[in-house]
Amino acid sequence: MPDPTTDPSISSFIEVDSGSDFPIQNLPYGVFRPGSADIPRVGVAIGDQVLDLAACQDAGLFDHEALQSNMPFHQPTLNPLMGLGNKIWSMVRERVHGLLRADTPDLRDDADLQERVLFDRSSVDLMMPVDVGDYTDFYSSREHATNIGTMFRGPENALKPNWLHLPVGYHGRASSIIPSGQPVRRPKGQLKPDEDQPPVYGASQLLDFELEVGALTGPGNNLGSRIDIDEAGDHVFGLVLVNDWSARDIQKWEYVPLGPFLGKSFATTISPWVVPMAALEPFRVDGPEQDPEPLPYLQQSGPQNFDVELRVGLQTEQMDAPHTICETNFNYMYWSVAQQVAHHTVNGCNLRPGDMLASGTISGPTEDSYGSMLELSWRGERPLEMPSGETRSFLQDGDTVVMSGHASGDGYRVGFGTAEGRVLPAQ
Ligand code: MN
Repeated sequence: MPDPTTDPSISSFIEVDSGSDFPIQNLPYGVFRPGSADIPRVGVAIGDQVLDLAACQDAGLFDHEALQSNMPFHQPTLNPLMGLGNKIWSMVRERVHGLLRADTPDLRDDADLQERVLFDRSSVDLMMPVDVGDYTDFYSSREHATNIGTMFRGPENALKPNWLHLPVGYHGRASSIIPSGQPVRRPKGQLKPDEDQPPVYGASQLLDFELEVGALTGPGNNLGSRIDIDEAGDHVFGLVLVNDWSARDIQKWEYVPLGPFLGKSFATTISPWVVPMAALEPFRVDGPEQDPEPLPYLQQSGPQNFDVELRVGLQTEQMDAPHTICETNFNYMYWSVAQQVAHHTVNGCNLRPGDMLASGTISGPTEDSYGSMLELSWRGERPLEMPSGETRSFLQDGDTVVMSGHASGDGYRVGFGTAEGRVLPAQ
């Protein structure tokens, strides 16, 4: 049965521009407060508005028992809603869709109710949507892994022997995940600018972004059990954009032999609206062919990638608007989110509601589709020309990085908004 919530022919009584990221086919979740003195609550973005789900529940518009006992909308994070699982998510999404569609009168014809439950998106404070418990960062773009490997080991040894057999990842830092708009302080640490000299302490000179997509988990698995790849979808609530800020000079010196640490843990920016997996269903596509064939626990049936166009803009202090420096697509990922979930739990490790599994830097096949400065400038050998006449190999103080993304439907698009952050000078 086709899902009415993604039906392109259904529109909302709320005017939504065709270029908007938030038509009625999207309905992403976020946490907001109408004013700075108000209590944070769960909302859904629709066009230029936010629908306050807590106020909707107060108005008696959600009568489902599970929602009465859990009150997942009167919360400062999405975690309680994420933990309720697929059936409740579907029910909430259908109800929200029903309230907003143009052919139902409940909210459309009740100006008094609209006054209580709808807010201008530009006037509200957007908060961190999720309390991320554990953050895992994968390395699942073949193009990215090949580029990095080529730079540091040469084209013959670009991919390590394990890479085509498992989704390589490491445990990131959850405490420094921040919402879009919060500035990022240039980190300090141990650097080794001269190969033949001892390390020095100082501000990173090779600050970078990484364009990624983060999967936020719903119900987890018990410690000691695993999630079958065919059930991975029941455990993923939605996707956000991720900027996994990276200090390449700190990273290069520290990472042997245990992997990234302080070169990554100073900040990770996410977009404020969580796009539900249901909204992305129409945009499922096959990923790249996997050769060699993965082990059985990583074999997936049906298309498991998503056609989401991604973009990175860079704006220096001398510029009035971001300049696009990267255009790529989430569908390039070699390892899918489903494979990442299956692999993450195959040893019995337990996922919990609100964990974030980031994709790893998403690079495409062409030079303008690389998802980091390290690749775009090829380690600084090919600095990027900005419209202001400036050049950039890595990020300078005052630079703003703006990530955006959307899936293109017929006459509408399912978008992610932006994940933005400006670089502040080191302290
Ligand atoms: Mn990363």
